Amino acid sequence: MATDNNRFQAIISHCKEYGFIFQSSEIYDGLSAVYDYGQWGSELKKNIRDYWWKSMTQMHENIVGIDAAIFMHPTTWKASGHVDNFSDPMIDNKDSKKRYRVDHLLEAKADELEKEGKKAEADALLAEMDKLLAANDYDGLKKLIEDANIKCAISGTKNWTEVRQFNLMFSTQLGSVSEEASEIYLRPETAQGIFVNFLNVQKTGRMKIPFGIAQTGKAFRNEIVARQFIFRMREFEQMEMQFFIRPGSQKEWYEYWKEERMKWHLSLGIPKEKFRFHDHVKLAHYADAACDIEYEFPIGFKELEGIHSRTDFDLKNHQLYSKKKMQYFDPEINQNYIPYVLETSVGLDRTFMMVISEAYTEEDLSTADKQDSRVVLKLQPKLAPIKLAVLPLLKKDGLPEIAREIMNNCKSHFRCFYEEKDAIGRRYRRMDAIGTPFCVTIDHQTKEDGTVTIRHRDSMQQDRIPASQVRELVAKYLI
Ligand code: ATP
Repeated sequence: MATDNNRFQAIISHCKEYGFIFQSSEIYDGLSAVYDYGQWGSELKKNIRDYWWKSMTQMHENIVGIDAAIFMHPTTWKASGHVDNFSDPMIDNKDSKKRYRVDHLLEAKADELEKEGKKAEADALLAEMDKLLAANDYDGLKKLIEDANIKCAISGTKNWTEVRQFNLMFSTQLGSVSEEASEIYLRPETAQGIFVNFLNVQKTGRMKIPFGIAQTGKAFRNEIVARQFIFRMREFEQMEMQFFIRPGSQKEWYEYWKEERMKWHLSLGIPKEKFRFHDHVKLAHYADAACDIEYEFPIGFKELEGIHSRTDFDLKNHQLYSKKKMQYFDPEINQNYIPYVLETSVGLDRTFMMVISEAYTEEDLSTADKQDSRVVLKLQPKLAPIKLAVLPLLKKDGLPEIAREIMNNCKSHFRCFYEEKDAIGRRYRRMDAIGTPFCVTIDHQTKEDGTVTIRHRDSMQQDRIPASQVRELVAKYLI
């Protein structure tokens, strides 16, 4: 069995080998921290996104979804604070010219200390870092890096520059390049598309507070330290929901959404102990309370989702910059106000990484006389890229024809896959590797009595059932 680091590398290789994730533009040696989802990865990603969307919109009567554009008026990002504040403290090593995020350098050092059994020292380092970050004390941060004896991984030296802020937004030109006004940004979060449409949705949907607007879509950040596979990318996808509430009720809704979102993650079949909450010490410029849901990835506990109490910061600023009223008239209390907002913001790619890390299983199937093993993705059927593989035992004797009938009966209900090449054992293993929960095999007995063998991926148990019951059996697992 692979150790955690080996396990992570094994998962990355598996994703590539079985068509889940490829490095972007690989034929040109790839583009750093940008990835493409392949034939099965895109299905799995879509199924996760659909499940989130359904949980948010279909399952909450007071939440609706939108699909806003990636490009937005540049003033949006002034109002949101991203032009002035969306930056991370960075430090460069003068010898290697490599730039690091200050918090990443210090966290890596703390990890190292913890591995050496110096947990108290590691905790003290992180506590000091949080304090200095909260105070924007850049000189203090530099001193902390020096005192902790942190060296650049490339040059091996401690020759550091001052700590500076670095904006993470990508900009591009809209239309004519010479005008200053034509500079626009690729959105660094999907949330602002929701805020600028708040009144459109509220009015046309006749929404009453409390209500939510959900959205999934691409976001872009010029991450300096982009690494760890799809955990930190420069182009990624978010699933965000902004919940508009009466001012003063934010504490109660904050607790509500913390619990709701944790329930959602647990509903993916992941054990409770793999999650934890992490309260923010340094609050973002828009928040009055914030926490992360962290998941224990093979690379350790890391942020999966943020839950933020954003107050009326965004709507108030959009009102200020656009000079359009962002108010809501609350008939229950007969008052106009700018609503407060509770945000849940989860990365789709990080959720993908969590789901595949949980599902990836190496099994030793050796017996006394034969060595054997398999890699199986134990994905929940509702998330699996393919739900049913239809496999005629032989390419002849009328078996493919019967298999095609089963395909035709099932494929408009859920994703099926037909294959007649290779020994049946090898075909089963290939389906295990991409997480197909059911395989149905058509053999000579099928011709006699109309039954087929259905094989369950996780237990590898095989049952004989009438071919006419296959669709119903699989569909039962997809809810
Ligand atoms: P981090 O501290 O890891 O940089 P963040 O606190 O900046 O993340 P948020 O702005 O709260 O992240 O974004 C919400 C979610 O979007 C995160 O919880 C994460 O799942 C996802 N996300 C953010 N940045 C990236 C990225 N570069 N690549 C992949 N997912 C990301």
